[in-house]
Amino acid sequence: MPLRTRRSLIDLDDLAIEELDEIFSRTAAFEERRPEPRLAHTACVNIFFEPSTRTFTSFNLAQLRLGADVVNLTPTDMSYLTKGESIEDTVLTLSAMGVAVLVVRHPVEHYPEQLAKHFDGHVVNAGDGAHAHPTQGLLDLYTLLQDFGSLHGRCIAIVGDVLHSRVAHSVMAGLRRLESDVVLVGPNGFVPSEYATGGVRVERELDAVLPEVDAVMLLRIQRERLTTMPIAQDDYVARYRLDARRLSLLKSDALVLHPGPYNRGVELDDSVFRFPGWRYRQQVLHGVSVRMAVLDLLVNGT
Ligand code: ASP
Repeated sequence: MPLRTRRSLIDLDDLAIEELDEIFSRTAAFEERRPEPRLAHTACVNIFFEPSTRTFTSFNLAQLRLGADVVNLTPTDMSYLTKGESIEDTVLTLSAMGVAVLVVRHPVEHYPEQLAKHFDGHVVNAGDGAHAHPTQGLLDLYTLLQDFGSLHGRCIAIVGDVLHSRVAHSVMAGLRRLESDVVLVGPNGFVPSEYATGGVRVERELDAVLPEVDAVMLLRIQRERLTTMPIAQDDYVARYRLDARRLSLLKSDALVLHPGPYNRGVELDDSVFRFPGWRYRQQVLHGVSVRMAVLDLLVNGT
């Protein structure tokens, strides 16, 4: 699809390889020099139906740095919920006001996609249930590319609750697009065997995997989406927590990423914060510029 005809970003695997390249080169340019107000007079509305610190702030900063007009809505502001208006009609009203961009987070999978069908502008999915979180996936890929140059043939482990993680689903799609090998590591209840397909392996024991990988992406257990824990927390910690002993099994130049928020003592312990390959700060930093690049591409095209 030609870049200028893309209206919305719902998932990372919607993006053609040239679009990924374009987003990453704009990200790099924006990090080098703060751009002109490329979204001046562009109205962006951020609608977050789930709490968010990182993603919400990051989108806000991205919009402000591009000079956009920004309005933030949370469910308590959504008068249609109590006045009987459907979300579709609310979205039509926003279009009529000249709103150009809707950034949407919602607990229901595919909700942003539904909105995009009714909205005469650009929708960016900021996380929908366990389905997708494309801008987090993009910033993770960008962070890996900063160190590795190319992801072709690199082996990346994603560890933990893959099943309920929209981040994992988006980043897996992106890693495969960039020709990395992916190893998913976790117990069956978090990493179903069916996830193993071309280029994606499933492993149950973290210790065996660590020496061979170039990067480890840790995940939080998504308790808000679990009815029961498929593994006792003590067992999870014993088998999967990244700690000093497990860090010593990694290659010396391996990277460790986490989308945040991280739970100290569960998927990692404090020794990870002293590991030279820990890239959490870089992920957060690149998040703002990646989101600037996405917004700029959607609104201004090539
Ligand atoms: N912040 C990410 C998300 O919204 C990851 C997480 O919550 O664990 O999905």
